[in-house]
Amino acid sequence: MQLEEDALVVGVDVGGTKIAAGVVNAQGQVSGHVKLPTDIRSVEHTLQSIASGIRSTIQTTQGSSQRIKAIGLGIPGIVDPLQGVCQLSVNLGWRDVAVKTWLEQELQLPCFIENDVSVAALGESFYGVGKGLENVVYLSLGTGIAARTIIHGQLFRGTHGMAGEIGHVVFDPAGPLCRCGARGCLEALAAGPALARRAEDELQQGKASLLAGFLQESAGTGLRAEHVFAAATRGDALAEQILHEAGQHLAYSIYLLAMNFDPQIVILGGGLAAKGSPLIEAMRAGLTYWMQQAPVFRKMFSQEAVRLASLQSDAGIAGAAALAIAESKTRSLLS
Ligand SMILES: [Zn+2]
Repeated sequence: MQLEEDALVVGVDVGGTKIAAGVVNAQGQVSGHVKLPTDIRSVEHTLQSIASGIRSTIQTTQGSSQRIKAIGLGIPGIVDPLQGVCQLSVNLGWRDVAVKTWLEQELQLPCFIENDVSVAALGESFYGVGKGLENVVYLSLGTGIAARTIIHGQLFRGTHGMAGEIGHVVFDPAGPLCRCGARGCLEALAAGPALARRAEDELQQGKASLLAGFLQESAGTGLRAEHVFAAATRGDALAEQILHEAGQHLAYSIYLLAMNFDPQIVILGGGLAAKGSPLIEAMRAGLTYWMQQAPVFRKMFSQEAVRLASLQSDAGIAGAAALAIAESKTRSLLS
């Protein structure tokens, strides 16, 4: 994955509320950070705000803008990377937007787009905790749950770019309704909003818990996953039970991913994958359980193989840059 020694790429993390862009060198160092609000008034406005972020970060290179060879973008939604089309992004309000064509005309540089979780997986594989490893699974835990796999150093996309959507695998057919329309998806059982929703349901049924106090203090905005973590840390039985069950489900998803892909490591990223998080502790307890149950899993995998993502605030930018480098190499734009 060698860039010309002095080549640069631009990485762009497109979010529903903000766009972050930066210039990335061959070593993965990010400079010229630009952050601006995402203008979602219309598709044209959003694309203009992305282009404006890219121009601003390129300007920071001063006389070296000719060293910039490509642009990579991570987009929250379903992306066709070959056509360069975002098929659906709920956060951006996009349907079938030809991002690549539009930006390439506007900026006169090769542009590559991918789903944001895929980009995060590439970033960790290129520059983060997965650096130098051949086979890596990235599991994103936040308001949603999704996994991506790097096989022999390359992102495995599958037929629709959706390989790894384990968040929408049904784990409990009688479970709560998921935003995808199914019942009991992993995401509806163990993602951040699911933990909060479960806590509120239990309170409504009259369960005694510290969470009742948190709900009152929230003044109508409702509980969040952080409330469940805080209550569990203080020994609240309901919060502990919710996290125990979510941890079992998450561990089971890692069990499935490990059995399917036999990765060297599983990297946990996303907003809920924080060090010392009670959810991660619950997931580790679940892993111990599944390893006791399943000798083949125990032989193939270990607690040490579950690692937290290491790229911090630059993860989205560095990942998008990794995408641009990988795609440029594939298409022989770079040596
Ligand atoms: Zn679902």
